[in-house]
Amino acid sequence: MSARPFNFAAGPSMLPESVLQRAADDMLNWHGSGMSVMEMTHRGSVYLGLFEKVMGDFRRLLNLPADYKILFMQGGATAQNALIPLNLLGANRKADYVNTGHWSTKSINEAKQYGDVHLAASAQAASVVNGLDQPAFTYIPDMANWDVRPDSSYLHICGNETIGGVEYWQWPDMQALGAPDVPLVVDMSSHILSRPIDVTRFALAYGGAQKNLGISGLTFVILNEALIRDRIKKPLPGCPTVFDYRKVLENDSMFNTPPTYAIYLTGLVLEWIEAQGGVAAMEAKNRQKAEMLYGALDASIFYRTRVAKNARSFMNVPFYLPDERLYEPFLKGAQERGLLNLKGHKAVGGLRASMYNAMPIEGVRALLDWLAVFEKEQA
Ligand SMILES: *Cc1c(COP(=O)(O)O)cnc(C)c1O
Repeated sequence: MSARPFNFAAGPSMLPESVLQRAADDMLNWHGSGMSVMEMTHRGSVYLGLFEKVMGDFRRLLNLPADYKILFMQGGATAQNALIPLNLLGANRKADYVNTGHWSTKSINEAKQYGDVHLAASAQAASVVNGLDQPAFTYIPDMANWDVRPDSSYLHICGNETIGGVEYWQWPDMQALGAPDVPLVVDMSSHILSRPIDVTRFALAYGGAQKNLGISGLTFVILNEALIRDRIKKPLPGCPTVFDYRKVLENDSMFNTPPTYAIYLTGLVLEWIEAQGGVAAMEAKNRQKAEMLYGALDASIFYRTRVAKNARSFMNVPFYLPDERLYEPFLKGAQERGLLNLKGHKAVGGLRASMYNAMPIEGVRALLDWLAVFEKEQA
């Protein structure tokens, strides 16, 4: 097999080659069962064994305490934008959100269909952060100024803005915000298991699997059981039963057929993370990659980044060239070197390198080589 390209796509994204190889080897005959995982009934003991192992491995890698549960659902993080308000709003229908970019905005707009949405903070306007001018959606609003309603059903944040490249490195302290009883909800689609995270800071964390965990089709919801048991008595009227967190939980994520193959694939990714040294090893590698790339971008006056330094994402790095006409030759040259999908999202333009757990250091090194060559060519 020829060397695989380095795929910098934001999601679906690169998977470890060994995971793909395992899936290929397993394709026709999983563990001597004589059939593919795709063909197995989800109620059979063979598949149930696999399912339990995936759940157990995920719990262990998250270091999840017993009072937290994991739900495997479908519909992606996008469906959760509706399901979170449907399940959690409760009688007063109040929810608070922080807007840090594209994905927060989507969450907010969806929630508005169901309840009284209050913006606790927003980075929608340009601002000055640490003495520097920051354009819209390139920073996390100063938590000292967040305005959270103490009777809100939850506060929602997006932990890593995949398009803007803005990541939280410090979590909101609900006590300090004067809202100690407000559950914190986080969209972790694009940085789950990229570094150790204290999940107990959140009442609920959710995301799609296709960035850091596997392939599309699987949605994870990690929640504190007390959130549904004590605080949220029942979802809003009209919530489909299959999306009622209580039903999903009661049925161990098998209220209906789960995305069996996507769960299997996530299982392979979790085993790969474990074999690499676990989540701490992922963090060390992700930090190294991020330092390499940001270091190169900072050292150059040719390439520009915009995100405030204290909110730079390790996963998604948007950057810019000095002239619009340079993007096409940059991307073409990158492609020729096997560096794929570096075009930025149309909402912010420019370039973007997504470097999830599966992106090897060599991929970032190859990108740095191309950055240096291209800059020199333009001089
Ligand atoms: C990709 C992404 C989404 C959307 O995920 P889907 O699985 O396509 O619904 C939502 N939030 C964040 C932060 C994302 O990165």
